[in-house]
Amino acid sequence: MKEEIEKLIALQKLNTEMSQFDQKIAVRQKELTDREQSILEKEAAINELQEKVQMLEKSQRDIKAAHDDAGTCIKERQNKMMQVQTSREHQALLKEIEDAKQLIKNTEEKLLQAMEQAEQAATEAAELENICNGEKELLADETKTVVAAVKRLNSRRKTVFNKHNKLAADLQGSRMKRYEKLLKKRNGLAVVEVIDGVCQGCFMAIPPQQFNEIRKGEQLFSCPTCQRILYYKEPDSEADEK
Ligand SMILES: [Zn+2]
Repeated sequence: MKEEIEKLIALQKLNTEMSQFDQKIAVRQKELTDREQSILEKEAAINELQEKVQMLEKSQRDIKAAHDDAGTCIKERQNKMMQVQTSREHQALLKEIEDAKQLIKNTEEKLLQAMEQAEQAATEAAELENICNGEKELLADETKTVVAAVKRLNSRRKTVFNKHNKLAADLQGSRMKRYEKLLKKRNGLAVVEVIDGVCQGCFMAIPPQQFNEIRKGEQLFSCPTCQRILYYKEPDSEADEK
């Protein structure tokens, strides 16, 4: 029985190791997706800024058109001035010319504003594009590193996996089934040590009578609370001396 317990302990160690590979790979891959996300966000911001620039450029064209129309209007009214006879007509033309002049003055201010805003948005877009390009280069480098690291981790996992399969084949079928069921149900931890009478899986106390039996190691015992397979290891006397 002691040998069976040793095998289960070794098996648990290998399973824990395998799950750590998955975690390590997930962490590395998350680094990449985080970088990708940051690039996508910047690209969206750049697009928005570029749309803003286009909108402002269109608005500049509209303002210029209004400006030119007002100029034409002034010329026409000035020509008409020579032909009018009554002072009322004359006054009306003068008023139209004044309005057109005011409009030209306003459009010039608006045009200046739109130009400044377009320039600012274009500068912001260019700056973001620079940062984004830098991040893309970093991502390309990082991708190579992560791909290599994942490859190494996968190859090491394969070694551990093979060891695990060999050991699993060596264990009694029903025992293996129970182990795997527990592994699934108990978050990857099926075999745990009892330290000071406490199950290290759920941290509940084991009844003293059962604890004594576990210490003997002649039988497989389950934790009454979490059902994990329990084992007892003599405290390391060398470690105590250190
Ligand atoms: Zn327990």
